[in-house]
This record gives sequence, C-alpha cells and structure tokens, in this order.
Amino acid sequence: MGHGYGAYQKRVRKELKSAEDSIRGLSYERLIAINLKGERVVEHTGNKDGINVPDSDAGKLSNAIVTHNHPTGGTFSQKDLETAFDYGVREVRVCHNGGYYSLERTFAYGKAAPHYRRFSSDYKAALQEYDKKRRAQYNALKVKTPAAKQAYRNDINSFARGWLKQNAEKYGWYYTEGK
Ligand SMILES: [Zn+2]
Repeated sequence: MGHGYGAYQKRVRKELKSAEDSIRGLSYERLIAINLKGERVVEHTGNKDGINVPDSDAGKLSNAIVTHNHPTGGTFSQKDLETAFDYGVREVRVCHNGGYYSLERTFAYGKAAPHYRRFSSDYKAALQEYDKKRRAQYNALKVKTPAAKQAYRNDINSFARGWLKQNAEKYGWYYTEGK
C-alpha cells in the first residue's frame, strides 16, 4: 500500500530522480514524463513561463508520472492542474532548487476524476481573491523595492501551497512537498 514516490518500483524512482536532477536548476522550463516501467516517454523544453504539451502526447501521458521544473520555485499553476486532468496523469510534479511539489491522483486509473473541473477553477478563484488583496497592499507602497516585489511573490506562493495542502484531497488528489 501507500502512495507517491515510495510506492514506485526502484527503476521508476531512479529515472525520476535523474530526470529531476537534470532540470531543477534550469532557467527555462523542461518537462519529462516517465511511465510505470521507468521509461521516459515524453520530453519537452519550454521557456521561463511555461511549456506547451501537444494533444498528440495524450496516450503517452495517460497514467504517467509527469515532472517539470519551475525556475521561480513556485508551486503548481492553474494550467499545470488542467494539463494533469486533461491527460489523466498519475502524478504531476514541480521540481526546483529547494525540492519538489507533487499532486498524485487518489482515484483509480480510468475512473472519472471527482470534481474534475472544479479543482482548477476553485484554485484559480482562491488565488485571484488573495492576489487582489495582496496586490492592493503592494500597490499602496510608496517605494516598490525588488525585495517588496519578492515578498509579494512569496506570499502568493505560500497562499497557493497552503490552499493545495488544505483542499487537494477533496478533489481527489494528494498534495505533498519534499526536499
Ligand atoms: Zn508548471
């Protein structure tokens, strides 16, 4: 029993580790998908803001472990969630220099995801509401230093992580973070 990284076969864990070690420090995004045999089935390079995943990858991404890096160190974007849902991935991960974030499906493969679309739309709404308040604080600053801008970004990321920790399981996903 169990879920996540520890439940995968050794060759899967080994391939995942080597994939994440190769991308976590990049200044642009890169995505690597690994199947449950430990084979790399999809690789894409994006830019600093994201990666396009073509529909033609759907078959390979289904039930795969999909990892990518975020140069900013931030947690999942709304688009990351939607991609994971659309392609029926088993686990979607973000790695960065400080560790990783993970969302793993709790429902059986091939079953319809519970609250499928609501997860990403509720996440987006919660982020927008928080951002609106936090942005107003930032905009009210007389002097907008890089440190103040970074603090604003950090607060958005902390809020997003907290929201996912608290809510992901209601929508059928485990959210975890690690080093
Ligand atoms: Zn992402």
